[in-house]
Amino acid sequence: MNTSVLQLFSIGIGPSSSHTVGPMRAAARFLSDLEGRGLLSALHGVTTDLYGSLALTGRGHGSDKAILLGLSGARPESIEPNEVEPLLAAVRAKGTIRFAGKHEAPYLEETDLLLRKSERLPFHSNGIRFTARDRQGKTLLQRTYYSIGGGFVLDEAEAAESSKGPGAAAVGPGIGGAAVPFPFATAGELLAHVGKTGRTIASLVMENEKAWRSEEDVRAGILRLWEVMEACVERGLQESGELPGGLGIHRRAPKLWKQLKENGEPARDPGAVFDWVSLFALAVNEENASGGRVVTAPTNGAAGVIPAVLHYYRRFVPLWTEEGVIRFFLTATAVGNLYRMGASLSAAEVGCQGEVGVACSMAAAGLTAALGGTDAQVENAAEIGMEHNLGLTCDPVGGLVQVPCIERNTMGAVKAINAARLALRGDGKHRVSLDQVIRAMRQTGEDMKRTYKETSEAGLAINVPVSQPEC
Ligand code: SF4
Repeated sequence: MNTSVLQLFSIGIGPSSSHTVGPMRAAARFLSDLEGRGLLSALHGVTTDLYGSLALTGRGHGSDKAILLGLSGARPESIEPNEVEPLLAAVRAKGTIRFAGKHEAPYLEETDLLLRKSERLPFHSNGIRFTARDRQGKTLLQRTYYSIGGGFVLDEAEAAESSKGPGAAAVGPGIGGAAVPFPFATAGELLAHVGKTGRTIASLVMENEKAWRSEEDVRAGILRLWEVMEACVERGLQESGELPGGLGIHRRAPKLWKQLKENGEPARDPGAVFDWVSLFALAVNEENASGGRVVTAPTNGAAGVIPAVLHYYRRFVPLWTEEGVIRFFLTATAVGNLYRMGASLSAAEVGCQGEVGVACSMAAAGLTAALGGTDAQVENAAEIGMEHNLGLTCDPVGGLVQVPCIERNTMGAVKAINAARLALRGDGKHRVSLDQVIRAMRQTGEDMKRTYKETSEAGLAINVPVSQPEC
């Protein structure tokens, strides 16, 4: 199923789309199901079991907080980051939650949130099971969900459906499964539509979007996403201090910004362009690591790549236009959909290839389109963007979305710009197709050892000492 630009990109809070945003949405779905059955008033508690990667890196990635917030009725797209800590403190002090914001009942994290570190549910590593009970301890409702990456959540029926083939059913903010005029599951199908209609990829995606909402609303939604990305960079440039979690990592963006304002004009040092790109990515990912407001793009761990490339476009391309920004988002959406349907956006399934790798590929395609590249060049840029991220593992130190995540976004952004430039210097003909590289990415993810897939049990996570490990 093709997914809207306003679903693939969504406004949320850090630090993780699969471990923070997804679990919040799953908790909200569970309570909405409970309420729909008229059981909310009988509720006397909810037990949440987290499995696989969610259990192993959940504390560092904020899943415990996300569950508590989601059960309280908070939504990732609307909660203000500065409301989070007071809400958590109130629940912990009182030992109760106002479930769905409507019905108060006991909640004790020690007994109601269980990390099943050695267990994994069959469909996906990020499994969550909610069990609601009444005053007598009798089960009112039990449901299992999977947070499959990028903030998307499946229940068991949707998971079974998606196992049938590419195009997983997905539930995100506010869109059902309307039929689109130009459905595609592969780059080959997408380019066939381009060939038949003479439209660009961006224009085809806009036609699909119109199955869900008016063109005016799509454009307004995209510009709102861009506004949130800009605000995120702005905040990231101003904030300083140590990032939460105990790794002792300090924010770097404000200092680098000061240096670049004083001595970072590309006219004097051509390489300074890349310092600026890194700056934009650092600003976003330091905000993300602090639980700030970010745009999931297409995940939170990789939330800095696309804003950094868009900021590069705005600051360093003299003829940048708002139209170019819209083209960027629509084209990147087509590419993101290809990975979501043909591989995965989940590091727990395919490692960081599915996060920074996909963001790099999407950004390369978006920038190529914004700069006026042909659709063959767009496909080439997307392919280059992933080809050189194949094999990228996920081994976050201390289970936190900080090392290697924050710097990795700077690398992803610079690589995306390079991929776009390489593609634009060519004529769109190339040896490796985007579909081939997506298949290779999926197979590489399948072959990757489980310990390198968002478990913090290998790589940097076990070679960089942490005084207070989070997982
Ligand atoms: S290493 Fe990559 S995939 Fe893993 S948490 Fe960090 S950004 Fe996400």
